[in-house]
Amino acid sequence: MTKILIIYTGGTIGMVNDADTGALIPFNFKQIQQNVPELARLNYNLEVYSFDPIMDSSNMHPDIWAEMAQLIFTRYDEFDGFVILHGSDTMAFTASALSFMLQNLSKPVILTGSQLPIGEIRTDAKENLITALEIAATKENGKAKIPEVCIYFDSQLFRGNRSIKYNSEKFEAFRSPNYPVLAEAGVHLTFFNNYILPQPEKELQVLLDFNSNIGVLKMYPGISEQAVMAITHSSVDAIVLETFGSGNTTTAEWFIACLQEAITKGKIIVDISQCQRGSVELGKYETSKKLQEMGVISGYDMTFEATVTKLMYLLAQGHGKDEVIKLMEQSLRGELTLS
Ligand code: ASP
Repeated sequence: MTKILIIYTGGTIGMVNDADTGALIPFNFKQIQQNVPELARLNYNLEVYSFDPIMDSSNMHPDIWAEMAQLIFTRYDEFDGFVILHGSDTMAFTASALSFMLQNLSKPVILTGSQLPIGEIRTDAKENLITALEIAATKENGKAKIPEVCIYFDSQLFRGNRSIKYNSEKFEAFRSPNYPVLAEAGVHLTFFNNYILPQPEKELQVLLDFNSNIGVLKMYPGISEQAVMAITHSSVDAIVLETFGSGNTTTAEWFIACLQEAITKGKIIVDISQCQRGSVELGKYETSKKLQEMGVISGYDMTFEATVTKLMYLLAQGHGKDEVIKLMEQSLRGELTLS
């Protein structure tokens, strides 16, 4: 019988209204099971592991990612797949982080959650949970169909490190702006084979360390020197530079000097676009040529979530700066498209 481990971390899916304040607070997993009697009818052997405490995902932290990855690694051989119930707010960060931590993954790790708590009549939680379990159980020629970390939400399966939370109200909470969906659930579960990662040739490896000493600099017209210097002169090891269009920034001398100094002092700067679709193309315009010349590196079409977690992951692996730069510009788990 197919065995799946459900890892419950919290999120709206298992929340109830606090009797005193009326705010949504996390509740324990038994409430979910009571509200989805269909789970007992699925012909799977389900085991539940509940985090303690369960949390609103806005409190997510790299230490908890490490706990999740370690749990999957430790119990890997016992299960055919893993379904993680998680708040939607930071689900794309967790999915990206897990994709980097779990190297040579050959089994599905599917994150899901919901916009309405599972006890509400119109809840989206049941469909999300039941279909995530079906996807985690799907095999082809005796091997898992999805050897990837994914997000399943509102009938669509996305590569985890390509996903973003796009809508805080609609059931369609996630999108994958720069990569096609991997599967769609309608009357049938349809998998789009060309987009799914191949089965790895090596054994699963888990890498648990993160260095979160990074900064984010988001461009806007009129940004001040003080605001830029607060990041470039700080002690962070790397900076995610969120630029305009295909990777462009102001060419003001003081701005270029700030970035140049940060790079000279050893910081890594990665350029990603504020646009959700498309890729950074350093050197395409005059307004990104200087960045390229000074050694700002391209994040291509990576999401903010994938860029941040990839940097945090690579900075903690003990690589030299050149190696981190080289790996940032490569696709490690299908997170970017080289243009
Ligand atoms: N604030 C909630 C969380 O991320 C929202 C959700 O679950 O969708 O935990």
